[in-house]
Amino acid sequence: MRRTFTILAAAVALAVAAATQAFADAGFLSWIGRFRGEALKAGIAARTFDAVFAGIDAPDPEVIEAANFQPEFTAKVWEYMDSRITESVVRTGMELKARHAAWLAAIEKRYGVDRHILLAIWSMESSYGEALATGKGIRRVARSLATLAYANPPRAKFARTQLLAALRIVESGDVSAAGLTGSWAGAMGHTQFIPTSYLAFAVDFDGDGRRDIWTSPQDAIASAANLLRKNGWVSGHAWGYEVSLPAGTGGALADVSDTISGWEKRGVRRVRGASFPRPGDKATLKLPAGPGGPAFLVARNFSVLKRYNNAEKYALAVGLLADRLAGGPALARDWPRGYVLLSEEERMEAQRLLARQGFYDGEIDGKFGPGTRKAAIAFQTSAGLTADGYPSKTLLDSLKAR
Ligand code: CA
Repeated sequence: MRRTFTILAAAVALAVAAATQAFADAGFLSWIGRFRGEALKAGIAARTFDAVFAGIDAPDPEVIEAANFQPEFTAKVWEYMDSRITESVVRTGMELKARHAAWLAAIEKRYGVDRHILLAIWSMESSYGEALATGKGIRRVARSLATLAYANPPRAKFARTQLLAALRIVESGDVSAAGLTGSWAGAMGHTQFIPTSYLAFAVDFDGDGRRDIWTSPQDAIASAANLLRKNGWVSGHAWGYEVSLPAGTGGALADVSDTISGWEKRGVRRVRGASFPRPGDKATLKLPAGPGGPAFLVARNFSVLKRYNNAEKYALAVGLLADRLAGGPALARDWPRGYVLLSEEERMEAQRLLARQGFYDGEIDGKFGPGTRKAAIAFQTSAGLTADGYPSKTLLDSLKAR
C-alpha cells in the first residue's frame, strides 16, 4: 500500500513537472540562432545578445495566448471610463501629486506638460507603478518579443524591430539584461514604453546617468513628458472641454471641426458657465456615447495624447482623469449608463454579500476587479439575471433580495 502510494506520488510529480516545465523548442532555438546573426550584423555585441537571451529556450505560451485573444465584446465607453477613473484612482493620484510635488514641478517646467496629464498617464499605464511592484504580468521583454517574432506572423515584423531596439537599450548600459522586463507586447516600465519609443524619448531625469523607466518614476514620467512635447504638446493648453449643445443638436455634428468661436456661434457652451480661453483654437466635437451622453470639444493636445496610445477613449480617459487630479469636478452630464453606479462602501457590501452566498472568496476591498466581476457574473447567471458583472445598484439590490 505504502509502495503503491509512493509510485503514484512519483508519477503525479512527474506529470506535474511535465505540465509546468517548458521544454526547449528546437524551432525556436534555431530562430534565435538566425536572429543572432542578424543582430550581430546590425552592430549588437555577441555578449549583449547572449546575456539578453540567456536561458530563453522556448516561446512563452502566455504571450501567444494574449496575442490571439479577441475580446468577445467591446466595452461600452463608460465601462472603460468607470474602470479607469475611480475614486480610489483619483485619491491615490492626489497623494502622489503631493508627495512628488518637487520633481513633478521640475518636469512640468522643463517639458511644458501639465503634471496632471502625466499623473493620469502614469495611472493608465501601470496604476502609478503598482503593476510593476506586484510583478504581475511582468516578463522578460526578449522572450515576449522573440515569441511574437517566431509564432505570431501579424506581429513578427514589429517584434523584430522592437527586439533589435531592446538589444540596443541593454547595449547602452541603461538597464541590465535581467532588468529588461515588460508586458507580453514588450511595453516597459512605469509608462509602458515599447523599445523604439524608449530609444526615441527616454530621458535620465533623476541624474544618476541611466534612463531608468523601470525603477525611477522620475525618469519614466519625464520620458512621457518628453514624448508628448516632441509630438507637439502645446504648453498651457487644455486637451479639451466638456461642453453642452443646443437642444435638438443630435449626433450630426460629431467629429466636425471648427474654431472655438465657430462653435460658440453654433450655440455650444462650456459646462458650468466657464468660458473658452482662446476663441481662435481649432476644436473637434466628440460624442463618445452618442447624442444622449456627455459632449466634448477636443483640441490639438488631444491628438498628441493619441500619439501615446492611438485610441480616442484612451486620450479621453487621460484628459478626464487629469481634470479630476487638478481638482476639477466629475462630468456635468453623466454617461447614459441606464443604471446607477455603486459607491466604494456599496461595492464592499456587494462583495460581502457575494462572499456570504458562496460566489466570492477574495478581499473585501471595494475594488471591482476581475475576481469580483467573475463572482458577480456567476451570481447573476445563477439568479437568471443579465450577467454583466457590473458594480451597479441593480446588482446590489438583487444581492440583497436573495
Ligand atoms: Ca536615471
